[in-house]
Amino acid sequence: MNVYDSRRMADVLRPLGYAEVDTPEDADMMILNTCHIREKATDKVFSEIGRLREHKKEKEARGGKMIMAVAGCVAQAEGKFIMERAPDIDMVFGPQTYHELPEMVLKVTGMIGRPRIVNTDFPPESKFDRLPEENSSQGVSAYLSVQEGCDKFCTFCVVPYTRGAEFSRPVQDVIDEAKKLIEAGAKEITLLGQNVNAYHGTGHNGSQADLADVIHEIAQLPEIERIRYSTSHPRDMSAHLIEAHGTVQKLMPFLHLPVQSGSDKILKAMNRKHGRDLFFEIIDQLRALRKDIVFSSDFIVGFPGETEQDHEDTLDLIRRVGFASAYSFKYSARPGTPAANMTGLLREEVKAQRLQELQDLINAQQYAYNLTFQNQVIPVLFDRKGHKDGQLLGRSAFMHSVHVNAPDSFLGQIAPVHITRPAPNSLSGDLVLSEPLPQAAE
Ligand code: SAH
Ligand code: SF4
Repeated sequence: MNVYDSRRMADVLRPLGYAEVDTPEDADMMILNTCHIREKATDKVFSEIGRLREHKKEKEARGGKMIMAVAGCVAQAEGKFIMERAPDIDMVFGPQTYHELPEMVLKVTGMIGRPRIVNTDFPPESKFDRLPEENSSQGVSAYLSVQEGCDKFCTFCVVPYTRGAEFSRPVQDVIDEAKKLIEAGAKEITLLGQNVNAYHGTGHNGSQADLADVIHEIAQLPEIERIRYSTSHPRDMSAHLIEAHGTVQKLMPFLHLPVQSGSDKILKAMNRKHGRDLFFEIIDQLRALRKDIVFSSDFIVGFPGETEQDHEDTLDLIRRVGFASAYSFKYSARPGTPAANMTGLLREEVKAQRLQELQDLINAQQYAYNLTFQNQVIPVLFDRKGHKDGQLLGRSAFMHSVHVNAPDSFLGQIAPVHITRPAPNSLSGDLVLSEPLPQAAE
């Protein structure tokens, strides 16, 4: 989501004459787009400000000017504090205000003295209505934000406070943006949202549309070959959406579905609004409709009050489901969230040990799954250059990174790859064809 937001900020600033650069040294403006989800991410912001400030000082010593801004959820949550603590920061603005960037920049650059701006409003108009059209080329694999914010209020989470209430873009806007992405070369679209499957936008003729409706409509666009969505909540896996996994071939057989814990007691304390059985049911239904579907998830270990038995329940859920990958985190108390006031905090060593156990189990599952690809031929979408000369990187349908020696003519193409070396975190293989197949005429 932050990568997407950063691109959109660049879109907003381009008409003012700004263009992205690769290094900060001589930049006219530096925007630090930030994440507040865990304490570690927030702490990093302050150390980065300290590091990047040096470039501003050096440029000013040479008589130049550099605007330094903090955007994103740390800006939203700690705007005033940042201004007090970091006098070099000129602008602080939250995630719902970046369509107002031109005004902010004009104020900061145009006035006498050195005005500073804090903008953490939730404006009544949607930023999506005011943003310029998507015009930064994302290439073959593109993100498209369809939903933002969250009304779920899980007790550990800052998102409902930093991103605000749930909002869904109208279907027509989404389709228009998808067409722009296609013009820029997109073959894969990932629909984005903090709670993307809670999507409920205005459909055609004023009807209400859900995420499955959007997926069906995007699947009609012939240039689009792969569709994904992220991040979803188990409570919002409606029958309609589950069914789409059986009927829409372009919907990729990989679903990121965060569950956080396998203990009913902890799920309740987290206010996740479902138990472990619902998760198992969803997984079973999806597997029945799409045999090859695999899952990834998010887990939090060491939530307040988590006992050894609760942790065992989580490991049990992981064993029963079998994941292709997962993200896992130690619980981090976030200011202003209900869980921050809960008792039963766990010692750091206990959290670290549980995290290790959980990650060992997931890593073993992931490697075993990757090994099943040995000698298989699978389609790979080549979306970037590899680190080594002559190497391209691509994605399998199941979200593996795939390393292949291939000429640049394969960039942006989907081509069959013979997997020869599955590794714990990626796959490597060889091209089956020496040249990409001719693409269908436009
Ligand atoms: N909307 C998604 C999650 C968005 S936040 C969902 O409902 O699942 C991304 C991930 O960060 C979460 O899934 C969770 O695992 C992790 N996370 C959020 N708050 C956290 C906290 N306070 N401590 C540790 N991990 C946290
Ligand atoms: Fe945070 Fe996701 Fe829960 Fe919303 S549903 S509060 S984003 S964890």
